Amino acid sequence: MKKNKLILIGTNNKGKFKELSYLLPKKFKKISPLKLKIKSPIESGKSFLANSKIKANYFSKISKITSLSDDSGLCINCLKGKPGVLSARWAKKYGGFRKAMKKIIDLVKNKNKNKKNKNFKAKFICSLTFKEPNKNSISAEGILYGNISPKILGNKGFGFDSIFIPKNYKITFGQMNKKKKINIDHRFLAYKKLKKKVKIL
Ligand code: IMP
Repeated sequence: MKKNKLILIGTNNKGKFKELSYLLPKKFKKISPLKLKIKSPIESGKSFLANSKIKANYFSKISKITSLSDDSGLCINCLKGKPGVLSARWAKKYGGFRKAMKKIIDLVKNKNKNKKNKNFKAKFICSLTFKEPNKNSISAEGILYGNISPKILGNKGFGFDSIFIPKNYKITFGQMNKKKKINIDHRFLAYKKLKKKVKIL
């Protein structure tokens, strides 16, 4: 491949942009839609996969640059998988991530009230889609299991990081060293799978 191949990281979310920039090899020159003044498309899909494809197809078509897009979110067992694909929209609906995290904790605690077997289980899911102009898109999904924290803890990271405790850990992503998080999370797991399907990654 050419040296310094340009890749558009198809997200306007700064947290995701940082993580995907870190995961992509140094040989890529990374650019954001923000820099090209391209707004995100409407995420009309009903799954993470559908939305990551919508974004990758859209960004590569508009920019004519190879694009890597992510759609991800938090799925909580006792809330029947919510907020799921509506994760970003919940944050808007409740007035920002801090308020949305508080709301989630209240909902989860309420669901577990008077229950003998408490269920705080949750997972972060990420679907990544790689799209070169005029070629078929290639996707992969990563799932990271964990639990909802009974308190908002830590201020590292972004989005819902401060209420998610990954399996086998005792701290939230919000309390975790950033590099550590990037190397274990749902985006990392999806990227690892995508790498097996896309030679140049
Ligand atoms: P979307 O993929 O643009 O629809 O946004 C997904 C939303 O899920 C983000 O805005 C965050 O709220 C949340 N999210 C996805 N990945 C992470 C993560 O690694 N940490 C915290 N929140 C995340």
